[in-house]
Amino acid sequence: MPRVLLLATTTGYQTRAFGEAAERLGVDLVFATDRCDVLEDPWQDRAIPIRFSDESASAEAILELARTSPLDGVLAVGDRPTVIASLVQEGLGLPGHPAAAAAAARNKLLTREHLRALAPPNHWFRTISIAMDPRELAASVSFPCVLKPLALSGSRGVMRVEDGTELVAVFHRLRALLDAPDLRGEPKETRDLALVEGFIEGREFALEGLMNHGTLHLLAIFDKPDPLDGPFFEETIYVTPSTASPDAQRAMAAAVDQAARALGLRHGPLHAECRVNETGVFVLEVAARPIGGLCARALRFDRRRGDAFGGSQPESAAVSLEELLLRHALGESSEGWARETAASGVMMIPIPRRGVFRGVTGLDAAGRVPFIDDLRITAKADQLLLPLPEGASYLGFIFAHADTPAQVEQALRAAHARLEFSFDPELQVLQSAHG
Ligand code: ADP
Repeated sequence: MPRVLLLATTTGYQTRAFGEAAERLGVDLVFATDRCDVLEDPWQDRAIPIRFSDESASAEAILELARTSPLDGVLAVGDRPTVIASLVQEGLGLPGHPAAAAAAARNKLLTREHLRALAPPNHWFRTISIAMDPRELAASVSFPCVLKPLALSGSRGVMRVEDGTELVAVFHRLRALLDAPDLRGEPKETRDLALVEGFIEGREFALEGLMNHGTLHLLAIFDKPDPLDGPFFEETIYVTPSTASPDAQRAMAAAVDQAARALGLRHGPLHAECRVNETGVFVLEVAARPIGGLCARALRFDRRRGDAFGGSQPESAAVSLEELLLRHALGESSEGWARETAASGVMMIPIPRRGVFRGVTGLDAAGRVPFIDDLRITAKADQLLLPLPEGASYLGFIFAHADTPAQVEQALRAAHARLEFSFDPELQVLQSAHG
């Protein structure tokens, strides 16, 4: 039975989806996860505990184990283990993204440096020390600009700034965030430095792809119909297929292909974000991993017959992204697969305010909205939730399928409107904790 190593941050939906896909395919799945997550969320004895922050030691530990229990494929989900996955692939002689490319893709400064030649000539970016005096910075940058951490994800800590006064306030907010306890394990550089860059106007899109030995196979372009103009950049709705013009879609595919090459990515999953305006396509980032966690459920694939551009002709039931990724990790080209023909989408339910989550009503009514497939509330009751820019999670996810992207978007919004979330202020927790 072929064995695939899955490097993942936590247990949960996506690891279960990989488990199901592995069973269907007759693949033995071996997990490796961060030791801290093992303590929080036990994987029992099935996972290899490693330290995501110590990439070379983690890769060596896995390679050592692979000597006695050979691995046929390696996959990383989430941003943190992508470099370890590449190091293991390199050590085993398996095709993958080179470790240097995965490292560049994970770091917003390295990404900007690699993509410099592809950016519009007037785009600027600058690395700054988080210890500097923000008033000096305010005097030397142009506005609007965006301040962001080097290596966080999910828009955490990304803030638009309109003027010098705001910049000073935002800078202190970022400094406090980079000092958060959950970031202590990150490399010092990513806690001491930040990036400031010009704000890019435009509509935003996400692209999902798989690279096959240097060739990008685009799996989906997602529209993000809610404008992302700041001050914070909360992801909400993703809908595919895109309603952008065929020319704009071709331009996005070409820009992401160029960006992936400029970063040195070669073989494996890829998730990119780009902005499109009248001057062209600006690639914000290309991650060397698939779309995150539950959102992957918005993608299903059919085996395609006929020529590569003839659209997909289902031969059997559609498969999950996780199944496609496992097949790819074991050497199958993704070119034989295409996204199903139906329109599909997901809403990442944003956290509206800071507070202690008490619960949600309206789930049944939301579930009855036409075209809604599923609704998952992932926030735990009685948990303190933080919205962006400090927060790093969602309340849950809503999924829809329909004939058209407009129906999907409308269904997601209608279902969301039926949900009511209740929060208590943080203060009440303190009061109850003290008697
Ligand atoms: P993350 O990896 O945390 O998602 P990104 O750098 O991709 O961080 O930024 C998150 C979001 O913030 C982007 O999807 C985009 O909406 C917005 N954003 C980031 N940088 C810029 C920029 N220079 N101009 C406009 N929007 C930006």
